[in-house]
Amino acid sequence: MRSTDEAGAQPAAPSIPSPQNQAPALPSTATGDAGTSGHPAFVFGKHRITPASEGVLDLPVASLSTGTPVSIPLRVLHGSRPGPTMFVSAAIHGDEIIGAEIIRRLRRRLNRRAIAGTVLLVPVVNVFGFLNHERTMPDRRDLNRSFPGSGRGSLATQVANTFYRKIIKRCSFGIDIHSAAAHRYNLPQIRVAAGDPHLLELAMAFGAPAVVEASLRPGSMRAIAQQQGVDMLLLEAGEALRFDEFSIRVGLAGIMRVMAKLGMIEDADIPGTAAVPAHTTRSLWLRAPVGGIARLTRLSGALIRKGDRLGTVGDILGEHAHALLSPIDGIVIGHTNLPVVNQGDALLHIAEVLQIDSAEQRMDSITGALLSSDLLDEDEVV
Ligand SMILES: [Zn+2]
Repeated sequence: MRSTDEAGAQPAAPSIPSPQNQAPALPSTATGDAGTSGHPAFVFGKHRITPASEGVLDLPVASLSTGTPVSIPLRVLHGSRPGPTMFVSAAIHGDEIIGAEIIRRLRRRLNRRAIAGTVLLVPVVNVFGFLNHERTMPDRRDLNRSFPGSGRGSLATQVANTFYRKIIKRCSFGIDIHSAAAHRYNLPQIRVAAGDPHLLELAMAFGAPAVVEASLRPGSMRAIAQQQGVDMLLLEAGEALRFDEFSIRVGLAGIMRVMAKLGMIEDADIPGTAAVPAHTTRSLWLRAPVGGIARLTRLSGALIRKGDRLGTVGDILGEHAHALLSPIDGIVIGHTNLPVVNQGDALLHIAEVLQIDSAEQRMDSITGALLSSDLLDEDEVV
């Protein structure tokens, strides 16, 4: 049986990563070995992660009704030089699994010896939802509305509180990865709080197709991080319960670009080329005017102009169809993949774009850079 200590039962990994754990070779910028550079070990609970090494840890959070212990898996990549401490987390909504794959690839890409600072990787925050392919916790609560939580409240508030104390409070920066809900797709996009120039700069550096300024929700990870002075970006990409290559590549390259911006890695290590995202402060949902079958002709990534026909909602045989017309100039940043709709269902999420011509060039360059065949890495193809 595992121990119940707070920092986890597994020992830290050896200080020199084994070849199979090592990322594809990247130029090392390490200035010295552990113990000779004066760079201290990263202490997490009773674990001590030496410079240029990886800690393999668990965060115990609860037990199942069978008594089986449940813990959040955590990897700590401690660089060889001082720098920021950041976290990358995923699946706080348990069915939004794409971030787990982004984090898997990120870990392979990052050379511990070349990192300045420390990266905490948390591929699955809501372990319960992940196991059940569900968004919420077993009590139907939303973990991302449960911060800062407490040690004695509902299961969701206890898990949120553990993440808050053990991860968020240790970091100066974080990226949390989400996807759209089941049967929906989100064009990869960064969401940031409005009115913070530094965060907006990091969001633009990420290089996703769109940056959407969105208000903070009470009880969310972003809200508590902001209260703590921890900068946070939220990546929305892809569909719940699915991996898609475009979203994964945008996410991987974007996180590395932000790390480079923070001085944690070298620019040269990043796959693809950066592009300037479409920045938008306003978005709206186009909803089904009637119940029926939605036949969408323009999907996420499409640049659209006011009045453009985006699809129809009609009856099963396509009669009595109502045209869906765009109310604004913009870019489609999300769409439903479920054609059977009720009146009022959200069909297309459109972000307003004021300069549509340059947005078109950006989409082409982002897509081209990320999906060009010369970037294909056999290990990375889904
Ligand atoms: Zn989510």
